[in-house]
Amino acid sequence: MATVSVKHHQMFIDGKDVDAPEAYEIRSPSTEELVCTVAKGSVTHADAAVDAARQAFESGSWSRMAKEERSAIMVRIAERLGDELEELTELEISANGATIRQALGFHCGLASPHFLYFAEQALSYEFEQSVATKAYPTLSANTIVREPLGVCAAIVPWNFPLVLGIWKIGPALAAGNSVVVKCDEKTPLSLLRLAQIAHEEGVPAGVLNVITGDGAQVGARLASHPGVDKVAFTGSTAVGREIMRLASGTLKKCSLELGGKGPVIMLDDADLSYAIDGVLFGCMLYSGQICESGTRLFVSRKRHDEVVAKLVERASLIRQGDPSDFETDMGPVVSARQRDRILGYLEQAKADGATFALGGGVPEGERFAKGHWIQPTIVTNVTNDMQIAREEIFGPVLVVIPYDSLEDAIAMANDNEYGLTGGVWAQDYEKALEVSGRLRAGTVWINNWHMIDPALPFGGYKQSGVGRELGPDALGEYTEAKHVHMDLAGRADRLPFDMLISAPG
Ligand code: NAD
Repeated sequence: MATVSVKHHQMFIDGKDVDAPEAYEIRSPSTEELVCTVAKGSVTHADAAVDAARQAFESGSWSRMAKEERSAIMVRIAERLGDELEELTELEISANGATIRQALGFHCGLASPHFLYFAEQALSYEFEQSVATKAYPTLSANTIVREPLGVCAAIVPWNFPLVLGIWKIGPALAAGNSVVVKCDEKTPLSLLRLAQIAHEEGVPAGVLNVITGDGAQVGARLASHPGVDKVAFTGSTAVGREIMRLASGTLKKCSLELGGKGPVIMLDDADLSYAIDGVLFGCMLYSGQICESGTRLFVSRKRHDEVVAKLVERASLIRQGDPSDFETDMGPVVSARQRDRILGYLEQAKADGATFALGGGVPEGERFAKGHWIQPTIVTNVTNDMQIAREEIFGPVLVVIPYDSLEDAIAMANDNEYGLTGGVWAQDYEKALEVSGRLRAGTVWINNWHMIDPALPFGGYKQSGVGRELGPDALGEYTEAKHVHMDLAGRADRLPFDMLISAPG
């Protein structure tokens, strides 16, 4: 049998490509064809990466570099991410199955501007702040200094590896930390390329390391490693809990960006000429594999049938197929495991009495015999207590739940363990703002979805996470605040010492 020759990728540790005895096969989620192989990291690689990161941090090559120089290097990396957009997109979609339109606009298109935001923060963040004090009894100068934490581990999932990696790498580097990134085993390619670019542009060896490996071994090793000061994680809530537990042994700082079950409240005055497409955009982009998707639509009982009919009409036009074709609207889901998980949820929904107004299974036709496919699916006859309405499905599945009053809708929207995002569709902005104020979620979109800006915080209420990524205080998650008190009174005022020694000196 002829062997197919494909490219082999290595990890990036201490400024060098590092191979491993074992390898992962990266297969296209759309065709199941072998795309490439990647070194399979082990706990030994995790330890080597942490050692390299620690040595780099202690050397001061990055941590004590002038912030102007650090920022300039980061600006150049951001530029390269823009220059190499097409190559990065190719790497990303070959492994995660995003469509080329989505990847250019979102998965990879956001990489350069988001990295640039952190490059600018490296310069503009208030690393030192003088504070005029009231309480000290003597004359003194007091400063808050924000110092890097040390070695930060970033554990990244498969859905948006490059951008979700940058949300951790960007603020960590801007603040002067060293970083070890553990990619998801299915999608490490774009982050490995980022590490090479960063090194080429002047990030010293050991400061940014990118490794692969199984989560339960290599990810867990980083989360519990005594040499790691902070762990930043995006992924499932179940693994988030485990990471917090592992990190507790050394009381590491944790930021966790976890699951979601975004409620979407459609008010009766919503303009359906764009709200219908907006709801589908909010739920089904990237085959619904986005934690912040709006997956539970609450619509008043009197508009329910009209809204469902229009959703079905528009969602039927979504074209599934080859993700690299600009005509394709929706690609596959990332893996057979993910497809089977979604199908399991749909089976259970049927057993619970739900009905499918659209979809509900795997699309038919030869094109879909290979790859991991799920039809765009709209589920009706759902109550808010059914599993399909409570758990994160991570597929192109929208549930529609009728409400009798707005109070009822808000109560159902908040009745979930997650609180990552929410949204309102309405023409009356005052009303929409009132509803947004009552949604227990870290982001609320009014008449839009997926609008994430690096200057605005992103993260979850309730079990959707701990801490915030992005926003003006993103670097706060990667720094320690140190108070430096400098006495200016000298011998002129020895009042505080009197608390201990009152005899004249
Ligand atoms: P996951 O949470 O298992 O994996 C995410 C990352 O964590 C990967 O890099 C993985 O290797 C690592 N990991 C896994 N177990 C670990 C452990 N014990 N210690 C440390 N690291 C570990 O996600 P998944 O299995 O790929 O997907 C399952 C479900 O998670 C999805 O269906 C979806 O609901 C959710 N998910 C959410 C997001 C998100 O953006 N919030 C992303 C991916 C998956």
